Amino acid sequence: MSCLVKSNYSHQLSSTAMAMCSSFCPQIPNQLRARPICPFPTKPQFTLSVKAFSSETSNASSKDGLSARIGFLGLGIMGSPMAQNLIKAGCDVTVWNRTKIKCDPLISLGAKYKSSPQEVAASCDVTFAMLANPESALEVACGEHGAASGMSSGKGYVDVSTVDGATSTLISGRINATGASFLEAPVSGSKKPAEDGQLIFLTAGDKSLYELVAPLLDIMGKSRFFLGDVGNGAAMKLVVNMIMGSMMASFSEGLLLSEKVGLDPSVLVEVVSQGAISSPMYSTKGPSMIQSTYPTAFPLKHQQKDLRLALGLAESVSQPTPIAAAANELYKVAKSHGLSDQDFSAVIEALKAKLQNPPR
Ligand code: NAP
Repeated sequence: MSCLVKSNYSHQLSSTAMAMCSSFCPQIPNQLRARPICPFPTKPQFTLSVKAFSSETSNASSKDGLSARIGFLGLGIMGSPMAQNLIKAGCDVTVWNRTKIKCDPLISLGAKYKSSPQEVAASCDVTFAMLANPESALEVACGEHGAASGMSSGKGYVDVSTVDGATSTLISGRINATGASFLEAPVSGSKKPAEDGQLIFLTAGDKSLYELVAPLLDIMGKSRFFLGDVGNGAAMKLVVNMIMGSMMASFSEGLLLSEKVGLDPSVLVEVVSQGAISSPMYSTKGPSMIQSTYPTAFPLKHQQKDLRLALGLAESVSQPTPIAAAANELYKVAKSHGLSDQDFSAVIEALKAKLQNPPR
């Protein structure tokens, strides 16, 4: 099966009238602040009352007639299976990862390798990036030998990392300044959906690029939303993960409380699974949490990062989020116990530590 995306496309640059980065982007390295590119404007773009969104399920037939050279930057838990699915679908994929050894399995499957994001972007039509956090997404896109250095008119950059809107807008500005197009496309779904090509893409930015990469998104995912201006995809993703982080924290409390009052937590998982609050997250994570094992699908450090960014988003619009704020504190405790790289369900350990070591 061949994977096809048009190698040349016309892009429609959105308005270049963007505001200068200010203290709104505290994590942005100084060298990236210098240029007149934008973070969020004074009024956030992520007003979710906009109706300019759509959900479309995958349509394999739309893959016909398109072809592209695809770059993939960042081969962690999510990036590796996503790139692998593109390769298995017959795509022409070039990979790069900070830790080179993670490229090797993909090279074995037929991927090409370049030694910098810049070289990948220069040699590809569309480059995807799946990085850990705002700092690494910025570094890989805009840093020295970053992807922007290899971009030019006719190319596209699709950032599928989970970052805040200000970071995404900054990257968009830098990519657009090269004449290339930008799409933010964070994903809902974890390791298994990534392996199974069942991710949900929350996209925003250049609509033409969205339409051109849609067949590629359909290889990696089961559905895709186009949400309008850059920042809206990031905001949607942060709201989703804010809810998820609070759910997991509450579930952890429930498991421990049930056990402490003499109930079988396995039965609690079963009861929950049959009722209105049923969630695949509870039924898949619950049994291993009861065993105190946390095989990493979604690293706890990333969940805490998402809560932190969601709280920033809420603060920017004066929206109270006390539940998420409390959950965030719990994940911070878990991190302080050395659980950053465990699955986010290890947040339950923070409650155990509290119970076993009550403050004097
Ligand atoms: P991960 O396994 O920790 O991978 C992170 C990737 O970022 C790795 O390729 C890592 O390179 C790279 N990286 C980190 N810091 C870097 C830096 N300073 N410069 C260059 N590269 C750097 O994370 P993941 O689970 O794949 O998640 C990636 C993104 O997707 C995150 O934004 C996360 O929030 C989001 N996400 C994750 C899930 C999930 O269930 N895992 C689901 C949805 C969204 P090295 O290999 O060299 O460390």
